[in-house]
Amino acid sequence: MNTLLKNHPCFDAGARHKHARIHLPVAPACNVQCAFCNRKFDCLNESRPGVTSAILSPQQALRHLFQVLDRRPETSVVGIAGPGDPFAQPELTLETLRLVRAHLPDMLLCVATNGLNVAAHADELARLKVSHVTLTINGLHPAIVSRVYEWVMDGDQRLTGFDAANLLIKRQIAAVLALKAQGMVVKINSIIIPGVNDRHLGELANMLRELGADVMNCIPLIPVPGTKFGELSPPGADLVARIRTEAGRHLPQMEHCMRCRADAAGKLGEDMCEDVVESLQAASRDETPAPPPAPVRPYVAVASREGMLINQHLGEAERLAIYAKAPDNFELIGVRETPPRGEGDARWEALAALLHDCCAVVVSGVGRKPAEFLTTRGVRVLEMEGMVADGLEVAFAGQAVPLHLRKVNRCGTGCGGSGNGCRCG
Ligand code: SF4
Ligand code: SF4
Repeated sequence: MNTLLKNHPCFDAGARHKHARIHLPVAPACNVQCAFCNRKFDCLNESRPGVTSAILSPQQALRHLFQVLDRRPETSVVGIAGPGDPFAQPELTLETLRLVRAHLPDMLLCVATNGLNVAAHADELARLKVSHVTLTINGLHPAIVSRVYEWVMDGDQRLTGFDAANLLIKRQIAAVLALKAQGMVVKINSIIIPGVNDRHLGELANMLRELGADVMNCIPLIPVPGTKFGELSPPGADLVARIRTEAGRHLPQMEHCMRCRADAAGKLGEDMCEDVVESLQAASRDETPAPPPAPVRPYVAVASREGMLINQHLGEAERLAIYAKAPDNFELIGVRETPPRGEGDARWEALAALLHDCCAVVVSGVGRKPAEFLTTRGVRVLEMEGMVADGLEVAFAGQAVPLHLRKVNRCGTGCGGSGNGCRCG
């Protein structure tokens, strides 16, 4: 399985029992009108896209997110999925993603959009490390698409019929290509609309595979009263199964979609809990500014001669390898030259500044003075021996050094040194 699909409850069927997701409802407006959509903002009993019990500003969304994370630390994904389209007012979505990324460097970020206006923001999404994008594409033939969308906005102009369909198709194709060029996982949601697009979805899957899409989710229409398709019958189980088999010949099919609300929180399939609704509503009334981000220390530094073993004392290391946590392992993001020896305390002050974005440094030995210097400046010093990967595991998990990785001789106790680390200072 693509490693990006793991730990994401919507993309990895196994992860949905362990990991939770939260949707932040910061996108009230939409730039198209789908013939099956009615966006209601205040319906606690309804569970379908487009529904939310509150609309939040980006700062309110951050506050709500912290509340939910306190009670649901298993949350691994923050998504923006409406209740309108996240790129009808892209500044709200991007500001929310920026705030979340600044506070939570390791969180998976996800957006779900109709694709009309996302390609223009693909670079920024990649910069914010948004890893998963869901595009709702219900067809790539103008004759079909013009029946599914009542209108599509082109800037300030409202298009209908084939003009609307042609523009949307062109933008959706550009969206798949732009997002894939940035290395994101692209899931396609397609609504199965009997008599409208049901015969086209196999062909659609084939076209999307050629564009580079990763996975498809064929979702039965929910006829919503008051919409153009409100009187249609939903597709039966046989039709849904047949379409998924046909589309599955071209693209892997996802079948555990729970049609999440725009303010969903928790594991897939769980009902909205009262505490989440209370937090949403309290956040929507709260006008205080968001807290400043905590100093972000997403990296760990390691002293190693060859990159495999932890085998250098801090004082002798002329360079430190800097690692980030990737979803399944660790990524070497660079190597930093350490400050020159012989500078007294200034050397350790300079080292603390060099490691300003590291939460820990993993070394095979360290003197008391540099260890104190770094610790009081926010860098944990982990003295251990063994494989670099094991050291990174301990450091990123914030754990104490386990017995089997502890050094037999600490600096100054078995080597006759001064306890200041080899050639420290
Ligand atoms: Fe992302 Fe969609 Fe899952 Fe929400 S439901 S977390 S937007 S894939
Ligand atoms: Fe509703 Fe989404 Fe369609 Fe907009 S794109 S009309 S929010 S279903």
